[in-house]
Amino acid sequence: EKDINKVKPEYVKSFQFEHKLMPFTWIVVRIDGCHFHRFSEVHEFEKPNDGQALNLMNSCAVAVVKEFQDIVFSYGVSDEYSFVLKKDSQLYQRHASGIVSVFVSFFCSVYVMKWKDFFPEKELKYPPCFDGRAVCYPSTEILRDYLAWRQVDCHINNQYNTCFWMLVKSGKSKREAQDYLKGTRAQEKNELLVQQFGVDYQTLPVMFRQGSSIFWVKEVETEMHNDGPREKFQKKVVVEHCDIIGQSFWKAHPSILD
Ligand code: ATP
Ligand code: ATP
Ligand code: MG
Ligand code: MG
Ligand code: MG
Ligand code: MG
Repeated sequence: EKDINKVKPEYVKSFQFEHKLMPFTWIVVRIDGCHFHRFSEVHEFEKPNDGQALNLMNSCAVAVVKEFQDIVFSYGVSDEYSFVLKKDSQLYQRHASGIVSVFVSFFCSVYVMKWKDFFPEKELKYPPCFDGRAVCYPSTEILRDYLAWRQVDCHINNQYNTCFWMLVKSGKSKREAQDYLKGTRAQEKNELLVQQFGVDYQTLPVMFRQGSSIFWVKEVETEMHNDGPREKFQKKVVVEHCDIIGQSFWKAHPSILD
């Protein structure tokens, strides 16, 4: 017969393996909607891009950025968001499971809470869920490569999806549209859009083409006091849709990854 009082807590705890993220590296937590192909169909998202669904994602990410002040930058597209934590972050003593689980659950509960603000006419039919992972990037250069990779992915997917849905909406079956696009290059896809549908890819909404970047900016406000004007600095979260692959964004915002 086993006496439970003889089991030492240290012994039980010793089975717990805590994965600690490497110190002084950028931590990126990427979350991604589970089976959003289906979720977007069930909730009749506009194809290829539902603007309101993206606005909801952005709003949830802003809430995450405000809640966890160690986040210095965040980039989102489709059903995914990446959150970059400052190199010396000590959030959850850098335990991956702590950080990832709290980001995912916070994001997801905000998604559900805000659903009706973005889709007042649409019922949320079932609880969505998101998965998450944490990856360390040892240098700013590699971190920027990571972010560039996500934005390139956004571009490639959006270009493909734009062509695909144009073909489908013009009467082709999904199978036919897929076969039609098989092996086409970026240039050919742009030509297809212009020649068959009179659409210039560059004129599509910038949020669809570039995804969404979230970061803090410093705002200077001049307040009038009895003894004259006084400058007040305030931090503000902004959502922008801009190129983060090239140098210019990072040169314009040197403090984000300093
Ligand atoms: P997984 O669980 O493996 O992530 P998934 O179905 O979510 O599977 P993803 O590769 O993450 O696959 O792709 C997300 C899909 O969700 C897109 O292909 C698209 O069909 C749909 N989707 C997400 N956001 C939107 C949106 N704003 N408008 C239209 N469709 C969207
Ligand atoms: P941490 O973020 O470190 O987990 P915590 O405040 O959540 O901090 P826990 O050790 O997880 O600390 O303890 C959870 C606390 O939540 C309990 O101490 C108790 O005060 C409260 N709590 C949780 N569930 C219940 C419940 N069903 N009824 C009343 N109080 C509860
Ligand atoms: Mg996934
Ligand atoms: Mg997904
Ligand atoms: Mg995805
Ligand atoms: Mg607790």
